[in-house]
Amino acid sequence: MGLMEVASGKSVYRGYEYYIHNKVLVAEKVDEYQYHGAVEGTADEPYEVLIDVIHPRKSHCNCPHADGKRIVCKHQIAVYFKAFPEEAKKYKKELDDYYEEEEQRYDRIEEELAKHLKKANKQELMEMIWDLLYEGPEWQFNRFVDRYLNID
Ligand SMILES: [Zn+2]
Repeated sequence: MGLMEVASGKSVYRGYEYYIHNKVLVAEKVDEYQYHGAVEGTADEPYEVLIDVIHPRKSHCNCPHADGKRIVCKHQIAVYFKAFPEEAKKYKKELDDYYEEEEQRYDRIEEELAKHLKKANKQELMEMIWDLLYEGPEWQFNRFVDRYLNID
């Protein structure tokens, strides 16, 4: 398993952002599988990072989240992407594909919903609205009342 698999999805995403925003100051190969890195973070000094691409659990970073733990943090991922830009491109493509799929899925649902609403009669529409108003969150109920009724 590589660093990407060991890290949480959130750390990979945040690491990608760090990489894209040029927060990785150094990413240099130190031996066959290891890279040393320095990453600008929230502290005054850059975080010191070492990644091991074969044994991800041997990687470390001195940020508060990962220091002394066997956690692959966003700084380690950022260094990984800097050392392997092709992997960053691959990750970006996966993200784009995912969002495109989600968008298409949403469009399909919207289409189906529109069809369904057009077919429904008044009684059915009323039931759907009651359902929404009473099963949904209170703000939804209040917003509906504010928008469509004149009650002082
Ligand atoms: Zn870190």
